[in-house]
Amino acid sequence: MSVGGLNQFITRYSELIQAHEQELTELDAAIGDADHGANMVRGMKAALEQLPPDGAPPAEVLKAVAMALISKVGGATGPLYGTAFLRASTAVSQASELSPESVAQMLEAALSGIKERGKAVLEDKTMVDAFEPAVKALKGALTDGKPLAEALALAHAAALSGSAATIPMIAKKGRASYLGERSRGHRDPGSLSTALLFEAAKTLGGIQ
Ligand code: ADP
Ligand code: MG
Repeated sequence: MSVGGLNQFITRYSELIQAHEQELTELDAAIGDADHGANMVRGMKAALEQLPPDGAPPAEVLKAVAMALISKVGGATGPLYGTAFLRASTAVSQASELSPESVAQMLEAALSGIKERGKAVLEDKTMVDAFEPAVKALKGALTDGKPLAEALALAHAAALSGSAATIPMIAKKGRASYLGERSRGHRDPGSLSTALLFEAAKTLGGIQ
């Protein structure tokens, strides 16, 4: 089966972010400053406006998204997701189209970028708690010989449970960490925007 196009992935991500804007805002209102929904909507709208035409090299599409996020989104998420897309772009710089392996490489590189930039590790109650298990599930499934669509579905499921697992955690990074113990009992907003990213990534496997 051929790998879906990146434009469809980015378009779907933008739709999902818009559909979940209020939820992202409410989560950030509980343990942050209530701007995660607005930040992500602004960033993904800008990304859509700057998308190269269908069929452009994957690295070009990913770089355009990175630049839109870096220039239009402040706070923690602009640089973090911006770095993620920039690293993803570099990871597929040689590819004229995506393969299952390059999808995994691109998402793994994105995770490394987030971790290097933000210095968060698992259980710091950040987007890493959704991103890392998702990449692990994706790579594991491909290594086991599963088709990309199934591997991406497993990655999405892992991102969702990783996001849910942030609820009882105490935040160690970002704005929520200022709350200490009081950050417990709330889902990390960035973990939800990352779970949505993996939901959108299912388009790459041909699942709508
Ligand atoms: P800000 O915190 O600047 O208001 P946002 O509200 O848009 O930015 O994003 C908050 C999210 O960013 C958090 O929910 C968390 O997932 C993520 N985040 C914050 N700091 C870090 C970090 N150092 N590493 C990884 N993710 C982080
Ligand atoms: Mg915020």
